[in-house]
Order: sequence, then C-alpha cells, then structure tokens
Amino acid sequence: MNVLVINAGSSSLKYQLLDTTSGEVFAKGNCERIGIDGSFVGHEERGGEKSKLEVALPDHKTAIKHVFEILDQAGFDTDKIEGIGHRVVQGGWYFPESKVVTDETLGWVREVAPLAPLHNYAEADVIEICRELFPSIGNVIVADTSFHYNIPEKAWRYALPRDVVDKLHIRKYGAHGTSHRYIWRKTKELLGDDVHKLVSCHLGSGASLSAIEDGHDMDTTMGLTPLDGLIMGTRCGSIDPATVCYLVREGGYTIDEVDTMMNKQSGLLALSGISSDSRDIEAGAERGDANCQMAFDMFYYRTSQLIMEMAQAMHGFDTMAFSAGIGENSDVMRAGVAKELEWMGVKIDPEKNKVRSDEPRVISTDDSKIRVLVVPTNEELMIALDVEELLGK
Ligand code: ADP
Repeated sequence: MNVLVINAGSSSLKYQLLDTTSGEVFAKGNCERIGIDGSFVGHEERGGEKSKLEVALPDHKTAIKHVFEILDQAGFDTDKIEGIGHRVVQGGWYFPESKVVTDETLGWVREVAPLAPLHNYAEADVIEICRELFPSIGNVIVADTSFHYNIPEKAWRYALPRDVVDKLHIRKYGAHGTSHRYIWRKTKELLGDDVHKLVSCHLGSGASLSAIEDGHDMDTTMGLTPLDGLIMGTRCGSIDPATVCYLVREGGYTIDEVDTMMNKQSGLLALSGISSDSRDIEAGAERGDANCQMAFDMFYYRTSQLIMEMAQAMHGFDTMAFSAGIGENSDVMRAGVAKELEWMGVKIDPEKNKVRSDEPRVISTDDSKIRVLVVPTNEELMIALDVEELLGK
C-alpha cells in the first residue's frame, strides 16, 4: 500500500511516501519555516539528489499542495496514494490505538491539544486540510502516546490531589510510543522467543525509555510531557519539581521563561556549554573539555539509572535495545551507558559495538547477562503499517 506519512509542527511539515509491502521510501522531505520569511521545501527521492526549493509557504495548506505537486513532478502519480498517516504528538485519553480520521476523532485531537499546544493544533489543522483537498484518500491518526496508554495505574498516576489530576487530566502520557512499538517489533523479529522483557532506549535529541514485556508497555520515562525523564539535547529531564517554583519566586523568571529554559536551553547543551549534538560534545571531550566530559558522564549515569527503573517495572529484563540518532550512531555513548551497568552483568563486545549498519544487531558478548542490541527505528514505517491495517482491508 502507498502511504504518505505526515509529521506536522507549528512551522514545519515532514513527509514521507512509502510502500508498506517493501518498506521502500519513494520520497521524503521537509517544509520549513511555514508562515515565516525564508520558507523552503527540502526534498529527496529514492536514489536521487537532495533538492531545496525556495518557495513561499504562508500556511500549511500551501505546504501540502506543494508536497503533492513535488511528488507529481517527480513522476509519482499522487492518485496512487492510498492513505495518509498523521503523527499526533498527544493523544490524551482518546487514543489507546491508532484511529481512522472522522469528525469525532479529529475533534479529540483538538480537545486534548492544551496538553501539547505547540503540536496538536497544527496537526489537527493539517488533518482537516488533507480531508478537504483529497476527499477520496483516507486519513489515520497515529498518536505518539498510544503505546503507553495501558501502562499500569501505579505507573501512570501522579501523587497529586485527586480532584486536581482528574480535572486537568494530569497523568503520565509518555511519548515516542510509535518508535518503542517498532523497536519491540524488530527485536522480536530478531530474537523470537528469546526476548520477553525489553528496555527500549530511544536516544535522539529527545530521549525516552520504555519497559516492554511481551509487547505490552509497562512504564516509560516521559511523563505528562516529553520534558520528563532522561537528560536530552536541550531538555533537562527529571529534576526536583520545586526548582520551577524557586526559579519563579527567587530567580524572577516568568513561567514562560522557565518553560523555554527547561525545554530549549538545558540538557546536553547546558552541561557542555557548546552544543546539544552528541558529536560536538564527543569531540569536546576528546579535546579534554571537562564540561563535555561531565555532560557525557551525567548522560550515562541518568540513562543507566532509568534503565534500572524500567527493569523494576518488569521485575527484571533480558534485553535492551539502543535506537534513534544517538543510540544508533554513537558507539561511545552506548559503551558509556553499558559500562555503568557492568556491575549487573551487562557486557558489550567492543568490536561489535563499532560496527556501523542499518540492520538490527546484537552487540553484547555471548556471556552478557542481558542481551544488548542496536535497533534502527522507523516511526514512519510503523505509522504507514497502522494506516494499512486500518484502511487497507
Ligand atoms: P530527533 O528525531 O529527536 O530530532 P534524532 O533521533 O535524529 O533526534 O537524533 C539526533 C541526535 O543524534 C543528534 O543531535 C546527535 O546528538 C545524535 N547523532 C546523530 N548522528 C550521530 C552520529 N553519527 N554520531 C553520534 N551522534 C549522532
């Protein structure tokens, strides 16, 4: 089935056109700076060159029209697109699984938008535009939170007053669910009956872990929002919640400034003082920069701590899988996290760890108590497979 996957942000729109049978990507790209000066579309075709088309994109509707035009010009008959999958960041209490777009399900995306205002409103608008422009193509909502929806109550509930959490729908929703689901699927394909309790480690510029037991999510590190849990590129992850009050009361920061500080100016960027990108920090640490080394040491420490928290959710684990930008590419970061877990029998093979590949692979030694894998994630394919399941039959 030919599926177009759309990942819309407030000023950007990523797209990927792929075939669910072969997994082959025909084309992908990114509309940037929508509604801002200097907008453009970066586009790439199978086996082709990357191109950058500078074009006015006053709104998302224009951007989507351009995407279809570009695909047509590239020789892909857009009439052959059989479904559109929309990544939705926050599914709230409505999406235990992916759903076909109807007036009702689209309304839910807007209803829960206050939990993720920067994303959900734009995503809902884009879904509406696709329905209007291409009424014959079915649309599917794939929420990033769905996979975490059924974690046990003791894992999702916050110890705040019940009337407050009920009124404002406060709970752990998690994120990266589509990626964690894909990582489980690929791990299961590779290991078969040898995997039951997996700690899935999605380590990109955003990062989260999931405790997955026989395909069911038991806990995850992100919370009400994606700020919780691990130290990330620019996000601080878990800190004492009273820090927020202290910054406002004593530091004189507004609540919006604290929000920006914790989401955009913290994490590896703040610790290293130079960059949010692990490659720059690695180079810094090699030069002997103590702040870069501390950024890495803290990343290893927090990640290994939270891996043990995920293990507790399953009363043990047999496998852990590294994924996303850092997890797939940085042998240094993988080795650093594994070293922290050496005390409990995690051993990775330095040679296997150095291998670069797009395939899922085992990097632990034969005598490691826990199997350690690298599993490249593919959220777009997972979204497209959901579209196929819901619309294909
Ligand atoms: P997101 O999708 O959350 O934006 P990604 O999963 O693409 O993030 O991860 C991006 C991060 O992965 C970069 O910021 C960088 O730290 C890291 N990364 C990407 N490529 C490499 C590499 N070759 N070596 C080390 N780190 C890498």
